[in-house]
Amino acid sequence: MTLNRRNLLRWTGVLAPLAGGIEQLEAAERRKDQPRNIIWMVTDGMSPGVLPLTEQFSRIARGKGSVWYALGQRPETRHALMDMSSLESMVTDSSSASSSWGSGSRILNGWVNMLPDGTALTPIGVLARDTKKRVGLVTTTTVSHATPAGFAAVSKRRDDEAGIAAQYLNVCDVVLGGGTPFFDPGVRADHRDLLADYRKAGFQVALSRDELLAARDGRLLGLFSKSHLPYTIDVRNDKALTAAIPALAEMTQAALDRLASSPQGFLLQIEGGRVDHAAHNNDAAALLWEMLAFDDALAAVLRFCEKHPDTLLVITTDHGNANPGLNGTGTEYGDSNPSFQRLLQARCSYTALTPMLGSRAEYSMSGAGGEDTHSQVAANRIREAVRTAFSLDLSAAEIDAMRKIAAQGHGVSLSRQLDKIVGILGQAVGNHTGIGWTGTSHTSDFTMLLALGPGSGRFHGFMKNTDAFPILCELMDIRHRNPSMSPERLKDFPKAAAANRPQIHWA
Ligand SMILES: [Zn+2]
Repeated sequence: MTLNRRNLLRWTGVLAPLAGGIEQLEAAERRKDQPRNIIWMVTDGMSPGVLPLTEQFSRIARGKGSVWYALGQRPETRHALMDMSSLESMVTDSSSASSSWGSGSRILNGWVNMLPDGTALTPIGVLARDTKKRVGLVTTTTVSHATPAGFAAVSKRRDDEAGIAAQYLNVCDVVLGGGTPFFDPGVRADHRDLLADYRKAGFQVALSRDELLAARDGRLLGLFSKSHLPYTIDVRNDKALTAAIPALAEMTQAALDRLASSPQGFLLQIEGGRVDHAAHNNDAAALLWEMLAFDDALAAVLRFCEKHPDTLLVITTDHGNANPGLNGTGTEYGDSNPSFQRLLQARCSYTALTPMLGSRAEYSMSGAGGEDTHSQVAANRIREAVRTAFSLDLSAAEIDAMRKIAAQGHGVSLSRQLDKIVGILGQAVGNHTGIGWTGTSHTSDFTMLLALGPGSGRFHGFMKNTDAFPILCELMDIRHRNPSMSPERLKDFPKAAAANRPQIHWA
Protein backbone atom coordinates (compact mmCIF):
# COMPACT_ATOMS: atom_id res chain seq x y z
CA MET A 1 0.00 0.00 0.00
CA THR A 2 2.78 2.42 1.00
CA LEU A 3 4.71 1.65 -2.14
CA ASN A 4 1.63 2.16 -4.28
CA ARG A 5 0.94 5.55 -2.78
CA ARG A 6 4.56 6.53 -3.19
CA ASN A 7 4.55 5.46 -6.82
CA LEU A 8 1.39 7.45 -7.40
CA LEU A 9 2.96 10.56 -5.92
CA ARG A 10 6.03 10.06 -8.07
CA TRP A 11 3.86 9.92 -11.15
CA THR A 12 2.21 13.17 -10.21
CA GLY A 13 5.62 14.74 -9.69
CA VAL A 14 4.80 15.95 -6.20
CA LEU A 15 7.78 14.17 -4.74
CA ALA A 16 10.16 14.64 -7.67
CA PRO A 17 12.69 16.71 -5.69
CA LEU A 18 12.81 13.95 -3.10
CA ALA A 19 13.47 11.15 -5.62
CA GLY A 20 16.93 10.41 -4.19
CA GLY A 21 15.44 10.04 -0.74
CA ILE A 22 12.79 7.68 -2.05
CA GLU A 23 15.40 5.46 -3.68
CA GLN A 24 17.28 5.28 -0.40
CA LEU A 25 14.06 4.39 1.36
CA GLU A 26 13.37 1.65 -1.18
CA ALA A 27 16.90 0.28 -0.81
CA ALA A 28 16.44 0.16 2.97
CA GLU A 29 13.12 -1.66 2.53
CA ARG A 30 14.80 -4.13 0.21
CA ARG A 31 17.49 -4.90 2.77
CA LYS A 32 14.86 -5.49 5.44
CA ASP A 33 13.25 -7.89 2.98
CA GLN A 34 16.49 -9.76 2.33
CA PRO A 35 16.79 -13.15 3.99
CA ARG A 36 20.09 -14.42 5.24
CA ASN A 37 19.17 -18.02 4.42
CA ILE A 38 17.02 -19.46 1.64
CA ILE A 39 15.47 -22.93 1.90
CA TRP A 40 13.78 -24.24 -1.26
CA MET A 41 11.74 -27.40 -0.61
CA VAL A 42 10.42 -29.54 -3.47
CA THR A 43 8.10 -32.53 -3.48
CA ASP A 44 8.89 -33.88 -6.92
CA GLY A 45 5.85 -34.72 -9.04
CA MET A 46 3.10 -33.71 -6.62
CA SER A 47 -0.20 -33.30 -8.44
CA PRO A 48 -2.66 -30.73 -7.02
CA GLY A 49 -4.89 -33.53 -5.64
CA VAL A 50 -2.06 -35.01 -3.56
CA LEU A 51 -2.08 -32.33 -0.87
CA PRO A 52 -5.70 -32.94 0.25
CA LEU A 53 -5.04 -36.69 0.17
CA THR A 54 -1.93 -36.14 2.33
CA GLU A 55 -3.90 -34.12 4.86
CA GLN A 56 -6.53 -36.87 5.11
CA PHE A 57 -3.90 -39.62 5.20
CA SER A 58 -1.93 -37.81 7.91
CA ARG A 59 -5.06 -37.70 10.09
CA ILE A 60 -5.71 -41.44 9.84
CA ALA A 61 -2.06 -42.57 9.84
CA ARG A 62 -0.67 -40.18 12.47
CA GLY A 63 -3.78 -38.94 14.26
CA LYS A 64 -2.99 -35.32 13.36
CA GLY A 65 -3.08 -33.05 10.35
CA SER A 66 -0.09 -32.25 8.18
CA VAL A 67 2.42 -29.50 8.91
CA TRP A 68 2.01 -28.29 5.31
CA TYR A 69 -1.73 -27.76 5.76
CA ALA A 70 -1.22 -25.92 9.06
CA LEU A 71 1.43 -23.72 7.44
CA GLY A 72 -0.97 -22.89 4.61
CA GLN A 73 -3.48 -21.59 7.16
CA ARG A 74 -1.08 -19.08 8.73
CA PRO A 75 -1.94 -15.50 7.72
CA GLU A 76 1.68 -14.61 6.97
CA THR A 77 2.13 -17.49 4.51
CA ARG A 78 2.15 -16.42 0.85
CA HIS A 79 0.48 -18.60 -1.80
CA ALA A 80 1.20 -18.85 -5.50
CA LEU A 81 0.54 -21.11 -8.47
CA MET A 82 3.32 -21.64 -10.99
CA ASP A 83 3.32 -22.45 -14.71
CA MET A 84 6.18 -24.93 -15.05
CA SER A 85 6.25 -25.33 -18.87
CA SER A 86 9.62 -26.18 -20.41
CA LEU A 87 11.01 -24.61 -23.59
CA GLU A 88 9.58 -27.35 -25.78
CA SER A 89 6.54 -28.66 -23.93
CA MET A 90 3.67 -27.72 -21.62
CA VAL A 91 4.78 -30.79 -19.66
CA THR A 92 8.18 -30.46 -18.04
CA ASP A 93 10.62 -33.02 -16.74
CA SER A 94 12.41 -32.47 -13.45
CA SER A 95 15.73 -31.24 -14.84
CA SER A 96 14.13 -28.58 -17.01
CA ALA A 97 11.83 -27.60 -14.12
CA SER A 98 14.62 -27.24 -11.57
CA SER A 99 16.80 -25.46 -14.14
CA SER A 100 14.01 -22.93 -14.76
CA TRP A 101 14.15 -21.99 -11.05
CA GLY A 102 17.92 -22.36 -10.98
CA SER A 103 18.78 -20.24 -14.04
CA GLY A 104 15.66 -18.25 -14.90
CA SER A 105 15.49 -19.77 -18.38
CA ARG A 106 13.22 -22.38 -19.89
CA ILE A 107 15.29 -25.13 -21.48
CA LEU A 108 14.72 -28.51 -23.14
CA ASN A 109 13.49 -31.46 -21.11
CA GLY A 110 16.40 -33.70 -20.18
CA TRP A 111 18.96 -30.86 -20.10
CA VAL A 112 20.43 -29.11 -17.06
CA ASN A 113 21.02 -25.33 -17.13
CA MET A 114 22.03 -25.23 -20.78
CA LEU A 115 20.32 -23.65 -23.80
CA PRO A 116 19.78 -25.76 -26.95
CA ASP A 117 22.63 -23.89 -28.69
CA GLY A 118 25.04 -25.11 -26.00
CA THR A 119 25.14 -21.85 -24.02
CA ALA A 120 25.89 -22.73 -20.39
CA LEU A 121 23.72 -20.93 -17.84
CA THR A 122 25.06 -20.10 -14.39
CA PRO A 123 22.98 -21.92 -11.77
CA ILE A 124 21.75 -20.22 -8.61
CA GLY A 125 23.96 -22.45 -6.43
CA VAL A 126 27.12 -21.21 -8.15
CA LEU A 127 25.98 -17.60 -7.85
CA ALA A 128 25.12 -18.10 -4.16
CA ARG A 129 28.55 -19.65 -3.54
CA ASP A 130 30.17 -16.61 -5.18
CA THR A 131 28.42 -14.37 -2.64
CA LYS A 132 30.00 -16.54 0.11
CA LYS A 133 26.76 -18.29 0.97
CA ARG A 134 27.07 -21.99 1.70
CA VAL A 135 25.09 -24.30 -0.56
CA GLY A 136 23.33 -27.54 0.36
CA LEU A 137 21.45 -30.23 -1.57
CA VAL A 138 19.36 -32.85 0.22
CA THR A 139 17.29 -35.44 -1.64
CA THR A 140 15.81 -38.92 -1.43
CA THR A 141 16.93 -39.62 -5.02
CA THR A 142 20.52 -39.94 -6.17
CA VAL A 143 22.25 -36.68 -5.25
CA SER A 144 23.13 -36.14 -8.91
CA HIS A 145 19.50 -36.49 -10.02
CA ALA A 146 17.61 -33.83 -11.98
CA THR A 147 16.16 -31.64 -9.22
CA PRO A 148 19.32 -31.09 -7.13
CA ALA A 149 21.33 -30.76 -10.36
CA GLY A 150 19.14 -27.85 -11.49
CA PHE A 151 20.52 -25.69 -8.65
CA ALA A 152 24.21 -26.53 -8.94
CA ALA A 153 25.22 -28.14 -12.26
CA VAL A 154 25.31 -27.63 -16.03
CA SER A 155 24.92 -30.50 -18.49
CA LYS A 156 23.52 -31.38 -21.88
CA ARG A 157 22.29 -34.66 -20.38
CA ARG A 158 20.66 -35.06 -16.99
CA ASP A 159 21.64 -38.72 -17.19
CA ASP A 160 25.34 -37.80 -16.93
CA GLU A 161 25.16 -38.21 -13.17
CA ALA A 162 28.89 -38.96 -12.88
CA GLY A 163 29.66 -35.59 -14.44
CA ILE A 164 27.06 -33.80 -12.31
CA ALA A 165 28.37 -35.40 -9.07
CA ALA A 166 31.84 -34.01 -9.86
CA GLN A 167 30.49 -30.48 -10.44
CA TYR A 168 29.07 -30.24 -6.89
CA LEU A 169 32.58 -30.48 -5.43
CA ASN A 170 33.28 -26.82 -6.18
CA VAL A 171 29.78 -25.54 -5.41
CA CYS A 172 28.26 -27.32 -2.42
CA ASP A 173 29.06 -27.69 1.27
CA VAL A 174 26.40 -30.29 2.09
CA VAL A 175 25.26 -33.04 -0.30
CA LEU A 176 22.98 -35.79 1.05
CA GLY A 177 21.05 -38.56 -0.72
CA GLY A 178 21.77 -41.68 -2.78
CA GLY A 179 24.03 -42.56 -5.71
CA THR A 180 27.33 -44.06 -4.47
CA PRO A 181 28.31 -45.48 -7.92
CA PHE A 182 28.69 -41.97 -9.36
CA PHE A 183 31.54 -41.37 -6.88
CA ASP A 184 33.19 -44.76 -7.34
CA PRO A 185 36.40 -45.02 -9.45
CA GLY A 186 35.46 -48.63 -10.26
CA VAL A 187 32.17 -47.53 -11.84
CA ARG A 188 32.95 -44.07 -13.25
CA ALA A 189 34.06 -44.06 -16.89
CA ASP A 190 36.89 -41.65 -16.01
CA HIS A 191 37.99 -43.88 -13.04
CA ARG A 192 38.15 -40.77 -10.86
CA ASP A 193 37.99 -41.45 -7.12
CA LEU A 194 35.45 -38.76 -6.42
CA LEU A 195 34.98 -39.74 -2.76
CA ALA A 196 38.71 -39.21 -2.22
CA ASP A 197 38.48 -35.82 -3.95
CA TYR A 198 35.58 -34.78 -1.71
CA ARG A 199 37.58 -35.85 1.37
CA LYS A 200 40.60 -33.88 0.12
CA ALA A 201 38.33 -30.83 -0.23
CA GLY A 202 37.41 -31.10 3.44
CA PHE A 203 34.18 -33.08 3.23
CA GLN A 204 33.34 -35.70 5.80
CA VAL A 205 31.81 -38.68 4.05
CA ALA A 206 28.89 -40.55 5.67
CA LEU A 207 27.82 -43.83 4.08
CA SER A 208 25.21 -44.95 6.64
CA ARG A 209 22.56 -43.43 8.89
CA ASP A 210 24.82 -43.94 11.94
CA GLU A 211 27.68 -42.12 10.22
CA LEU A 212 25.35 -39.26 9.33
CA LEU A 213 24.08 -38.90 12.90
CA ALA A 214 27.67 -39.03 14.26
CA ALA A 215 29.13 -36.61 11.71
CA ARG A 216 30.97 -33.60 13.10
CA ASP A 217 30.56 -30.02 12.01
CA GLY A 218 31.84 -29.00 8.58
CA ARG A 219 31.32 -29.91 4.93
CA LEU A 220 29.40 -33.12 4.52
CA LEU A 221 28.77 -35.66 1.74
CA GLY A 222 26.29 -38.41 2.66
CA LEU A 223 25.46 -41.28 0.30
CA PHE A 224 23.08 -43.89 1.66
CA SER A 225 22.14 -46.05 -1.32
CA LYS A 226 23.48 -47.16 -4.69
CA SER A 227 20.46 -45.66 -6.39
CA HIS A 228 17.59 -43.63 -4.92
CA LEU A 229 16.84 -44.11 -1.24
CA PRO A 230 14.22 -46.86 -0.77
CA TYR A 231 10.59 -45.81 -0.43
CA THR A 232 9.61 -44.75 3.09
CA ILE A 233 6.88 -47.43 3.14
CA ASP A 234 9.53 -50.11 2.49
CA VAL A 235 11.95 -48.63 5.05
CA ARG A 236 9.36 -48.43 7.83
CA ASN A 237 8.41 -52.09 7.33
CA ASP A 238 12.01 -53.40 7.37
CA LYS A 239 14.17 -53.18 10.51
CA ALA A 240 17.47 -53.43 8.63
CA LEU A 241 16.50 -50.62 6.25
CA THR A 242 15.21 -48.50 9.15
CA ALA A 243 18.63 -48.78 10.80
CA ALA A 244 20.59 -48.08 7.60
CA ILE A 245 18.61 -45.39 5.77
CA PRO A 246 18.17 -41.89 7.23
CA ALA A 247 14.75 -40.28 6.94
CA LEU A 248 14.49 -37.11 4.85
CA ALA A 249 13.88 -35.22 8.12
CA GLU A 250 17.15 -36.57 9.56
CA MET A 251 19.12 -35.55 6.47
CA THR A 252 17.42 -32.14 6.58
CA GLN A 253 18.34 -31.65 10.24
CA ALA A 254 21.95 -32.69 9.55
CA ALA A 255 22.14 -30.16 6.70
CA LEU A 256 20.63 -27.34 8.80
CA ASP A 257 22.98 -28.09 11.72
CA ARG A 258 25.98 -27.59 9.44
CA LEU A 259 24.74 -24.68 7.39
CA ALA A 260 23.42 -22.64 10.36
CA SER A 261 26.92 -21.45 11.25
CA SER A 262 27.63 -20.09 7.76
CA PRO A 263 28.80 -16.47 8.25
CA GLN A 264 26.99 -15.23 5.11
CA GLY A 265 23.98 -17.55 5.31
CA PHE A 266 23.09 -20.37 2.95
CA LEU A 267 20.98 -21.66 0.06
CA LEU A 268 19.56 -25.13 0.71
CA GLN A 269 17.43 -27.22 -1.63
CA ILE A 270 15.52 -30.13 -0.04
CA GLU A 271 13.77 -32.64 -2.30
CA GLY A 272 11.24 -35.37 -1.54
CA GLY A 273 12.12 -37.02 -4.83
CA ARG A 274 10.26 -40.29 -4.61
CA VAL A 275 6.78 -38.78 -4.50
CA ASP A 276 7.25 -38.58 -8.27
CA HIS A 277 8.36 -42.20 -8.61
CA ALA A 278 5.38 -43.47 -6.64
CA ALA A 279 3.07 -41.41 -8.87
CA HIS A 280 4.66 -42.87 -12.03
CA ASN A 281 3.87 -46.28 -10.50
CA ASN A 282 0.27 -45.32 -9.58
CA ASP A 283 1.21 -46.42 -6.06
CA ALA A 284 -0.96 -44.34 -3.70
CA ALA A 285 0.24 -45.77 -0.37
CA ALA A 286 3.93 -45.36 -1.27
CA LEU A 287 3.22 -41.82 -2.49
CA LEU A 288 1.42 -40.77 0.70
CA TRP A 289 4.10 -42.19 3.00
CA GLU A 290 6.66 -40.18 0.96
CA MET A 291 4.50 -37.10 1.51
CA LEU A 292 4.47 -37.70 5.28
CA ALA A 293 8.27 -38.10 5.24
CA PHE A 294 8.46 -34.76 3.42
CA ASP A 295 6.08 -33.27 5.98
CA ASP A 296 8.42 -34.41 8.80
CA ALA A 297 11.28 -32.65 7.00
CA LEU A 298 9.11 -29.54 6.73
CA ALA A 299 8.53 -29.67 10.51
CA ALA A 300 12.31 -29.70 11.05
CA VAL A 301 12.71 -26.73 8.69
CA LEU A 302 9.97 -24.74 10.45
CA ARG A 303 11.66 -25.30 13.83
CA PHE A 304 14.83 -23.87 12.25
CA CYS A 305 12.93 -20.90 10.80
CA GLU A 306 11.47 -20.08 14.21
CA LYS A 307 14.98 -19.85 15.65
CA HIS A 308 16.32 -18.10 12.54
CA PRO A 309 13.59 -15.71 11.36
CA ASP A 310 15.99 -14.28 8.76
CA THR A 311 15.23 -17.36 6.61
CA LEU A 312 13.07 -17.43 3.48
CA LEU A 313 11.26 -20.75 3.08
CA VAL A 314 9.66 -21.77 -0.23
CA ILE A 315 7.74 -25.04 -0.53
CA THR A 316 6.63 -26.20 -3.95
CA THR A 317 6.63 -29.00 -6.52
CA ASP A 318 8.07 -29.11 -10.03
CA HIS A 319 5.12 -30.66 -11.90
CA GLY A 320 2.06 -32.83 -11.46
CA ASN A 321 2.24 -36.54 -12.07
CA ALA A 322 -0.59 -38.96 -12.93
CA ASN A 323 -3.11 -36.80 -10.99
CA PRO A 324 -4.36 -39.17 -8.29
CA GLY A 325 -7.67 -38.43 -6.61
CA LEU A 326 -10.16 -40.09 -4.29
CA ASN A 327 -13.28 -41.00 -6.25
CA GLY A 328 -16.70 -40.79 -4.64
CA THR A 329 -18.05 -44.34 -4.29
CA GLY A 330 -21.13 -45.95 -2.73
CA THR A 331 -24.49 -44.46 -1.86
CA GLU A 332 -24.04 -40.76 -1.07
CA TYR A 333 -20.31 -41.48 -1.51
CA GLY A 334 -20.44 -43.29 1.83
CA ASP A 335 -17.84 -45.87 0.75
CA SER A 336 -15.14 -43.29 0.02
CA ASN A 337 -13.83 -42.92 3.58
CA PRO A 338 -13.58 -46.66 4.38
CA SER A 339 -12.02 -47.23 0.94
CA PHE A 340 -9.36 -44.57 1.60
CA GLN A 341 -8.65 -46.13 5.02
CA ARG A 342 -7.56 -49.32 3.21
CA LEU A 343 -4.40 -47.51 2.07
CA LEU A 344 -3.19 -47.96 5.66
CA GLN A 345 -3.10 -51.73 5.08
CA ALA A 346 -0.26 -51.45 2.52
CA ARG A 347 3.01 -52.85 3.83
CA CYS A 348 5.23 -52.31 0.78
CA SER A 349 5.59 -50.32 -2.44
CA TYR A 350 4.63 -51.65 -5.88
CA THR A 351 8.37 -51.79 -6.55
CA ALA A 352 8.77 -54.26 -3.68
CA LEU A 353 5.65 -56.16 -4.76
CA THR A 354 6.75 -56.71 -8.36
CA PRO A 355 9.36 -59.43 -7.59
CA MET A 356 6.61 -61.34 -5.72
CA LEU A 357 4.70 -61.52 -9.02
CA GLY A 358 7.58 -63.25 -10.82
CA SER A 359 8.84 -62.73 -14.37
CA ARG A 360 6.83 -62.39 -17.56
CA ALA A 361 8.18 -65.77 -18.69
CA GLU A 362 6.34 -67.39 -15.81
CA TYR A 363 3.07 -65.98 -17.13
CA SER A 364 3.63 -66.54 -20.84
CA MET A 365 2.43 -70.13 -20.72
CA SER A 366 -0.93 -69.28 -19.18
CA GLY A 367 -3.83 -69.59 -21.66
CA ALA A 368 -6.07 -66.77 -22.79
CA GLY A 369 -9.16 -68.30 -21.16
CA GLY A 370 -7.56 -68.57 -17.73
CA GLU A 371 -8.89 -72.11 -17.17
CA ASP A 372 -5.61 -74.05 -17.64
CA THR A 373 -3.23 -75.06 -14.85
CA HIS A 374 -0.61 -72.41 -15.73
CA SER A 375 -3.24 -69.71 -15.51
CA GLN A 376 -4.49 -70.99 -12.15
CA VAL A 377 -0.94 -71.01 -10.74
CA ALA A 378 -0.40 -67.47 -12.04
CA ALA A 379 -3.72 -66.29 -10.59
CA ASN A 380 -2.91 -67.77 -7.18
CA ARG A 381 0.45 -66.05 -7.21
CA ILE A 382 -1.09 -62.65 -7.95
CA ARG A 383 -3.84 -63.18 -5.34
CA GLU A 384 -1.30 -64.06 -2.62
CA ALA A 385 1.17 -61.29 -3.53
CA VAL A 386 -1.50 -58.58 -3.35
CA ARG A 387 -2.93 -60.10 -0.17
CA THR A 388 0.54 -60.09 1.46
CA ALA A 389 1.42 -56.59 0.31
CA PHE A 390 -1.89 -54.77 0.79
CA SER A 391 -4.21 -57.11 2.77
CA LEU A 392 -6.65 -56.83 -0.14
CA ASP A 393 -8.57 -59.61 -1.89
CA LEU A 394 -8.68 -58.86 -5.60
CA SER A 395 -11.75 -59.99 -7.55
CA ALA A 396 -11.51 -62.72 -10.22
CA ALA A 397 -11.75 -60.06 -12.96
CA GLU A 398 -8.98 -57.97 -11.38
CA ILE A 399 -6.71 -61.01 -11.03
CA ASP A 400 -7.40 -62.00 -14.64
CA ALA A 401 -6.48 -58.52 -15.89
CA MET A 402 -3.26 -58.70 -13.87
CA ARG A 403 -2.46 -62.15 -15.26
CA LYS A 404 -2.98 -60.94 -18.83
CA ILE A 405 -0.88 -57.79 -18.46
CA ALA A 406 1.87 -59.85 -16.78
CA ALA A 407 1.87 -62.28 -19.73
CA GLN A 408 1.42 -59.82 -22.59
CA GLY A 409 2.90 -56.56 -21.27
CA HIS A 410 0.10 -54.59 -23.02
CA GLY A 411 -3.34 -54.93 -24.60
CA VAL A 412 -5.42 -54.93 -21.41
CA SER A 413 -6.37 -51.26 -20.93
CA LEU A 414 -7.68 -48.91 -23.61
CA SER A 415 -5.65 -46.11 -22.01
CA ARG A 416 -2.15 -46.28 -23.51
CA GLN A 417 -0.74 -44.70 -20.36
CA LEU A 418 -2.30 -47.27 -18.06
CA ASP A 419 -1.68 -50.31 -20.27
CA LYS A 420 1.18 -51.72 -18.22
CA ILE A 421 1.64 -53.69 -14.98
CA VAL A 422 1.56 -50.68 -12.64
CA GLY A 423 -1.35 -49.11 -14.52
CA ILE A 424 -3.47 -52.27 -14.23
CA LEU A 425 -2.36 -52.87 -10.62
CA GLY A 426 -3.19 -49.24 -9.84
CA GLN A 427 -6.70 -49.72 -11.27
CA ALA A 428 -7.21 -53.05 -9.48
CA VAL A 429 -6.07 -51.70 -6.11
CA GLY A 430 -7.95 -48.45 -6.83
CA ASN A 431 -11.22 -50.40 -6.98
CA HIS A 432 -10.66 -51.11 -3.27
CA THR A 433 -9.07 -47.83 -2.12
CA GLY A 434 -11.05 -45.40 -4.29
CA ILE A 435 -7.89 -43.83 -5.77
CA GLY A 436 -7.98 -43.20 -9.54
CA TRP A 437 -5.19 -42.01 -11.85
CA THR A 438 -5.17 -40.17 -15.19
CA GLY A 439 -1.99 -41.82 -16.44
CA THR A 440 1.57 -42.66 -15.47
CA SER A 441 3.44 -39.53 -16.57
CA HIS A 442 4.02 -35.90 -15.68
CA THR A 443 1.20 -33.43 -16.25
CA SER A 444 0.94 -29.75 -17.16
CA ASP A 445 -0.86 -28.61 -13.98
CA PHE A 446 0.09 -25.36 -12.34
CA THR A 447 2.08 -26.20 -9.23
CA MET A 448 1.35 -24.97 -5.72
CA LEU A 449 3.87 -22.77 -3.93
CA LEU A 450 3.96 -21.53 -0.32
CA ALA A 451 6.47 -18.97 0.94
CA LEU A 452 7.26 -17.76 4.42
CA GLY A 453 9.76 -15.31 5.88
CA PRO A 454 11.66 -12.29 4.52
CA GLY A 455 11.16 -11.95 0.78
CA SER A 456 8.12 -14.24 0.75
CA GLY A 457 5.92 -11.35 -0.42
CA ARG A 458 7.60 -11.64 -3.83
CA PHE A 459 5.80 -14.94 -4.39
CA HIS A 460 2.07 -14.51 -5.03
CA GLY A 461 -0.70 -15.26 -7.50
CA PHE A 462 -0.01 -16.81 -10.88
CA MET A 463 3.69 -16.99 -11.65
CA LYS A 464 5.97 -18.44 -14.30
CA ASN A 465 8.74 -20.84 -13.29
CA THR A 466 11.29 -18.36 -14.66
CA ASP A 467 10.07 -15.66 -12.22
CA ALA A 468 11.76 -17.39 -9.28
CA PHE A 469 15.38 -16.86 -10.37
CA PRO A 470 15.43 -13.04 -10.53
CA ILE A 471 13.62 -12.94 -7.19
CA LEU A 472 16.19 -15.23 -5.56
CA CYS A 473 19.01 -13.22 -7.15
CA GLU A 474 17.65 -9.91 -5.86
CA LEU A 475 17.18 -11.36 -2.40
CA MET A 476 20.85 -12.42 -2.43
CA ASP A 477 22.16 -9.18 -4.02
CA ILE A 478 23.15 -11.03 -7.19
CA ARG A 479 23.13 -8.94 -10.38
CA HIS A 480 23.80 -11.78 -12.83
CA ARG A 481 21.03 -12.70 -15.28
CA ASN A 482 21.23 -15.65 -17.67
CA PRO A 483 20.41 -15.52 -21.38
CA SER A 484 17.25 -17.28 -22.55
CA MET A 485 15.83 -18.68 -25.78
CA SER A 486 12.33 -18.22 -27.18
CA PRO A 487 10.29 -21.24 -28.35
CA GLU A 488 10.38 -19.70 -31.87
CA ARG A 489 14.19 -19.68 -31.80
CA LEU A 490 14.16 -23.38 -30.81
CA LYS A 491 13.21 -24.22 -34.41
CA ASP A 492 16.78 -23.29 -35.40
CA PHE A 493 18.11 -26.14 -33.27
CA PRO A 494 16.17 -29.24 -34.35
CA LYS A 495 19.09 -31.55 -33.56
CA ALA A 496 19.30 -30.30 -29.99
CA ALA A 497 15.60 -30.87 -29.45
CA ALA A 498 15.90 -34.37 -30.89
CA ALA A 499 19.10 -35.33 -29.05
CA ASN A 500 17.40 -36.81 -26.03
CA ARG A 501 14.39 -38.18 -27.90
CA PRO A 502 15.32 -41.90 -27.89
CA GLN A 503 14.86 -41.87 -24.13
CA ILE A 504 11.13 -41.56 -23.73
CA HIS A 505 10.79 -41.09 -20.01
CA TRP A 506 12.52 -38.93 -17.49
CA ALA A 507 11.39 -39.27 -13.93
ZN1 LIG B 1 8.94 -38.11 -12.99
